Amino acid sequence: MEQLHQKRVVVIGSGPAGLTSAIYAGRAELDTTVIAGFQPGGQLTITSEVENYPGFAEGIQGPELMENMRRQAERFGAKFVDDNVTAVDFSGPVHKIFVEDQLYEADAVVIATGASALWLNVPGEQRLRGRGISGCATCDGFFFRGKEIAIVGGGDSALEEALYLTRFASKVTLLHRSAKLRASRIMQERVLNHPKIEVRYETTIEEALGENKLEALRLRNTRTSAGRGEISQFALEGLFVAIGHRPNTDLFKGWLEMNEQGYLIVEGETGTKIPGVFVAGDVFDYRYRQAITAAGSGCKAALDAEKYLEQLVERPIERQTVRLVLEQNDTLLAV
Ligand code: NDP
Repeated sequence: MEQLHQKRVVVIGSGPAGLTSAIYAGRAELDTTVIAGFQPGGQLTITSEVENYPGFAEGIQGPELMENMRRQAERFGAKFVDDNVTAVDFSGPVHKIFVEDQLYEADAVVIATGASALWLNVPGEQRLRGRGISGCATCDGFFFRGKEIAIVGGGDSALEEALYLTRFASKVTLLHRSAKLRASRIMQERVLNHPKIEVRYETTIEEALGENKLEALRLRNTRTSAGRGEISQFALEGLFVAIGHRPNTDLFKGWLEMNEQGYLIVEGETGTKIPGVFVAGDVFDYRYRQAITAAGSGCKAALDAEKYLEQLVERPIERQTVRLVLEQNDTLLAV
């Protein structure tokens, strides 16, 4: 038996998309709960300075920006649950969201679960994360002043971070598994013409070496020796991993449509094929992936949810009848 909580709006996720949805839904006086996850705040909480979020002329620390957004949502009545959703059930007119033994029923749901950085999953990587291996150049680049470092990946993220890291590092080696870079032409030109950056193609990382801090990488050049590759050791002090992201959508498999990479497919601006289920931020937007675009889509999703709920009042679903009984008791046991 689950403990039941009934809400008008449940927002899943607490990055800029989820929190902006909560600000708008709360301010529209909708009973709103944010299921914020184990690590509330999303990717910006592992960023240091955010310089391109409008309104902060001198920049703002990522965690501070997220804390401000959360307090703003709370000011408009949004409640927070710092836990992960364990399952959803979108089969009925009322949407069910499970958090262990707690059941949240909502008339409208905003999914803003974002995306997570991918890791190489090679020996040594996990152990040396935070000890020379990082997934965030803007957070950790500063620690590598005057040092020799590498970055892995061939997309726009890796190239952008490689350029950023030249501010600090004495040399940046870009390690790319393929023979061609995937990034946009302009980024390629900048990287290939940069005196501090060397690109090594057709190179994979086999292992990260070092006891308490990264000391070297074991590399394989896949072009040589009939594809089996020549192994070499590369001494360095830092490795940045920028090989893309994976959307956090496992929970929604079987309920919502996704593309091949698992990003949710939207209908219109923020809708899905299930009435009352909306999406916002990096969970569907693999193109822009910015705090400001995520916040913008969070706003749109909340406004769309509000419109949807207005229609529900005009055409009540069976939930409205159930609610009359349940309203006498804020929390009831589900049957
Ligand atoms: P991408 O998916 O574009 O690139 C990922 C890169 O990592 C690819 O080069 C891929 O290699 C490599 N890679 C993937 N898995 C592994 C692995 N296991 N081992 C080694 N290498 C691996 O991701 P990005 O994060 O770079 O970009 C995502 C989107 O965001 C893109 O559309 C990009 O254009 C956009 N973006 C735009 C920016 C801008 O305009 N300023 C900035 C950053 C991102 P391979 O090529 O061989 O598949």
